[in-house]
Amino acid sequence: MTDAQLSELKHELRAIHDLQAAAAVLEWDQSTYMPAAGAAARGRQIALLGRLAHERMTAPRMGELLKGLGGVADADSIEGALVRRARREHERATRVPGELVSAIKSHTAESYVAWTKARPANDFAAVRPYLEKTVELSRRWSACFPEAEHVLDPLIDAQDPGMSAASVRSLFAELRAALVPIVKTLLARPAPERAFLGRPFPKAAQRAFGEQVIRQLGYDFERGRQDETAHPFMIRFSAGDVRITTRFDEADPTEALFGTVHEAGHAMYEQNIAAELDGTPLGEGTSAGVHESQSRLWENLVARSRPFWTRFYPALLETFPEQLAGIDADAFHRAINTVERSLIRTDSDEVTYNLHVMLRFDLEAQLLEGTLPVKDLPDAWNARIEADLGVRPPSDALGCMQDVHWYCTTVGGTFQGYALGNLMAAQFFAAAERALGDVDAAIAEGDFAPLRGWLTENVYRHGARYLPDELVEKATGAPLSIAPFIAYLKGKYGPLYGVESW
Ligand code: ZN
Repeated sequence: MTDAQLSELKHELRAIHDLQAAAAVLEWDQSTYMPAAGAAARGRQIALLGRLAHERMTAPRMGELLKGLGGVADADSIEGALVRRARREHERATRVPGELVSAIKSHTAESYVAWTKARPANDFAAVRPYLEKTVELSRRWSACFPEAEHVLDPLIDAQDPGMSAASVRSLFAELRAALVPIVKTLLARPAPERAFLGRPFPKAAQRAFGEQVIRQLGYDFERGRQDETAHPFMIRFSAGDVRITTRFDEADPTEALFGTVHEAGHAMYEQNIAAELDGTPLGEGTSAGVHESQSRLWENLVARSRPFWTRFYPALLETFPEQLAGIDADAFHRAINTVERSLIRTDSDEVTYNLHVMLRFDLEAQLLEGTLPVKDLPDAWNARIEADLGVRPPSDALGCMQDVHWYCTTVGGTFQGYALGNLMAAQFFAAAERALGDVDAAIAEGDFAPLRGWLTENVYRHGARYLPDELVEKATGAPLSIAPFIAYLKGKYGPLYGVESW
């Protein structure tokens, strides 16, 4: 590899990154402050930037540069990782015809609008033809990678590089076998008192409290900001500008609080990527699963833990003295860790959550394999959730139309990351405890620097330099496994629910 070629590649990749970041600013504005009447023009502007980035990524010169640099780069160096990641993106961009990409974009935009109307009307028949076409387009997208063993593989690999339908399935089979008896045991116990969480909690106070929490966790407001939106997300424009968004519900303070910590977890990952990787394809989280591991680690393993509330409950009580009258830290901690038969994935507790994910993963595999026709999806969904959790959705709005995913993008590849994230979160946390000693004691004192430091050193600073399985093994000394997650659940929920032996 010559230095001139490498610097030409970096220069070109930075231009592509900047076009994508400019589109991201427009998307952030669209989801926060843009008047609805701006939608049509905004869609056109974002699409133009996307096309410009795509043209540069698929340009013949990019292919020549990657070819020239490929074999020479030292596989373990940052340059080697950069060329590998850039080649993945170049290959993906050149393999999928532009005409198919536009067909998917315009179809899913229409499908999304149909879903926003059909869901409140509980009208699955109205979205059915859209979903049928989305399944068909997703199959065509996958077929651009004819070497794949399973139709899901290219879709999974796009989000969680290195993973496949087979590897996810074998992990999920183990997880399911371990999880079902735990869920059964906990659901048979009396549920904690949590009616007090339905009292009105004023938004301004919720916002101030959440901000205080994430400042202390280590979200850097000098290089970020927090705004309101309908569907919260984290977004990165550069190392110096990583933003989060939040939705507030006065009748449920837990939504904004844990949602804020969740997005701050995603953001702390991005804010702590090594500065030298900024503006390159390595300057981002390495996969959907690893990203979700960081949001879930801070949300669940930290902010839903008992030591965390040793530090923060007095301040919460001071902020909401009437709403929390008569509730002590233990009662609050039990209430925010209620395990229940929930219909909605996004509202579900951390014990049952993965069952919701596995349901979607299995059904989307069947849709893509052609063994489940779209017309039979509502029945298949209802039967599965009844078997798993003992509840039957009273409507498709609360069943197979609840998640936006199948209605706004391709079917397949996006759900497994949520469960992988939960598993990785427990494995990273256990490794941090082994390295740091008593993490709980530091959390109870509000000292998050040791944990954040370990995560930065072992996960964050690497950005996308390593594939997810390499990163997990490097950071924790073992391949990804369900064991730390299952041990975490038993260790936490045993005492909470009075289960002495599992
Ligand atoms: Zn997330």
